[in-house]
Amino acid sequence: MTRSNSHHDCVTRRHFLTTSSLVLAGTALTAALPLMAQQAPASAGAADPRLIEDLIAANRILYNEGIVDGYGHVSIRHNRNPNRYLLARSLAPELVTADDLIEYDLDSNPVNLRGRDQYSERYIHGEIYKARPDVNSVVHNHSPAVVPFGVSSVQMRPVYHMAGFLGDGIPIFDIRKSSGMTEMLIRTPDRGRALAQALGNEPAVLMRGHGVAVVGPAVRFAVGRSIYLELNARVQLQSIGLGGNVTYLDPEEAKAVMDAGENRSYDRPWEMWKRKAMGK
Ligand code: MN
Repeated sequence: MTRSNSHHDCVTRRHFLTTSSLVLAGTALTAALPLMAQQAPASAGAADPRLIEDLIAANRILYNEGIVDGYGHVSIRHNRNPNRYLLARSLAPELVTADDLIEYDLDSNPVNLRGRDQYSERYIHGEIYKARPDVNSVVHNHSPAVVPFGVSSVQMRPVYHMAGFLGDGIPIFDIRKSSGMTEMLIRTPDRGRALAQALGNEPAVLMRGHGVAVVGPAVRFAVGRSIYLELNARVQLQSIGLGGNVTYLDPEEAKAVMDAGENRSYDRPWEMWKRKAMGK
């Protein structure tokens, strides 16, 4: 469409000049206040205290069970707003308390940063929550027996019933395919999106040369699956090491495990893991 009306042109020019002045004023203001924080997203309010307690416990359990060390993290989706999640500040999981939790929106912008350091790989959590409405907890770890299956052509498969959630196998995310040569970290939204895409509808995605992201409908699933993923990796390595043929769970058997409530929601071991980890 041609805009030939002279009055319109005049208005447009005046509008342009006004906008330019505002932009210039804005630039001056930004330059004058370099430390002025970007507007933080609104808080969803206080999360359910039981969820907070479970998240603290999850951090300690994952350390206590050898799934995370000084690195790795676990988050929960906020119970009052599905567009918010909670994740600790940059801290070893064993040391996390309620005061260390940061609320994020799904673009992984902090709501209540208060000058604290953040996990550079928080995009793993935000982008998975965005892509998977069914997921309410995400664990990222580098658990040692799992790493070989991210770099080998031998696929991770369920050796026993406790790993039935693996179904017919889980995908491998190769960061090189989406981002070329990197320091291997999911430290941008783009990398988080590529990882979430590789995860698809699966319970976990191996990260080549790095670790794994594990998800669940509740924090005890994400934690339980992380623990049994590590155990399955060890027993699969042992089964292969015996030298004979290995019979894995049939996908139909794996599905039956899931249909039976996947190890009864990990309720029984959760209480034990929690007691051990919390020192009670
Ligand atoms: Mn990592």
